[in-house]
Formats: sequence, C-alpha cells, structure tokens
Amino acid sequence: MNKALFLDRDGVINTRLVGRYVQTPDQFSLITDIVPLLRHAHARGYMLILITNQQGVGKGLMSLEDLDVVHEHMQQCLHQVGAPRIDAIYVCTDLDGQQSAHRKPAPGMLLDAMRDHGINPLESWFVGDSITDAQAGRAAGVKTALVGDFQPEAADLVQPSHAMLELVLQKLL
Ligand SMILES: [Mg+2]
Repeated sequence: MNKALFLDRDGVINTRLVGRYVQTPDQFSLITDIVPLLRHAHARGYMLILITNQQGVGKGLMSLEDLDVVHEHMQQCLHQVGAPRIDAIYVCTDLDGQQSAHRKPAPGMLLDAMRDHGINPLESWFVGDSITDAQAGRAAGVKTALVGDFQPEAADLVQPSHAMLELVLQKLL
C-alpha cells in the first residue's frame, strides 16, 4: 500500500487570504516554509496529495477552469524552488452548510484519495491550518498536524509557523 502526506492548501502551501479566494495566479503566494517538508516526505516515499475546500467555485466567484490555472501555477512555483510536484489534487466546491460528505470537516476527499491511490491511513499524515482539517483527518483515520497561529481574525494574512513544520518533519523521519 502507498502512504501519503495530505496537505491543505490555503495557509499551508500558499498564504491564506482571509475572507477572499485565490482566483488568479497573481493572488497565489507560495509559503516557502513548506518546501522542506514536501521534499522530505517525497524522498521517503510519501505521495503528496492536496485536499482543499474551494467554495469560491460553488459561489460562482470563479470557475473550475480558473482553479485549474491557479493549481498549474502552484506546480510551477513549486518547481521553481526545487520542490516536488503535488501528485494529486482533490477539490470540494460545495458550499458551507450543504451537508457535504466531501467538504472538510467531512472526510470524503481523503477517503476518495485513499481509495484511488491505495493509501494506508495508518502510515499517512494530514497537515492543515484549521480545526476542520484535523477533524477531517481524524475521521479518515490518518495522523494529523496543524500549523499556523490559529488567530485568523487577528490578521489579514495567516502563515504557518516554521517551528510547527519542523516538528512535523521530525515526526516523518
Ligand atoms: Mg487552510
């Protein structure tokens, strides 16, 4: 069976825009602190899989094609800094309050990814920046780690803490 490092996107891979969506490549800002973790996990045989809620699509503020453009830009940004490519991307465009089986905190995206790629949850991690990431990870039976300062209301931008990423890195050894 495979193992995976599941990753939330906003606030983990790229700077989170509070109250807004990353709709175009120029609004995407890579958080380079995540790169050592991606390299480390890739080198140890973990698949890198993105698990992201994107209700901006569900709200009609952007299209799936717009999202694909942003994600291709993300892959280019990772390549430019020598980071491995994200192996698979799972997106949920459902709106909050729709009782979605896929929108985090529900585990649907993780369960789909594990089924599609033959992933053992017991050997896998989910790194996110919000409690709903940890809830989804727990519900899917994977190990969970949260990064960030958990005070999103206190700032316009939220970045993961480097110290927390170091801790995750050590646990993956
Ligand atoms: Mg996030």
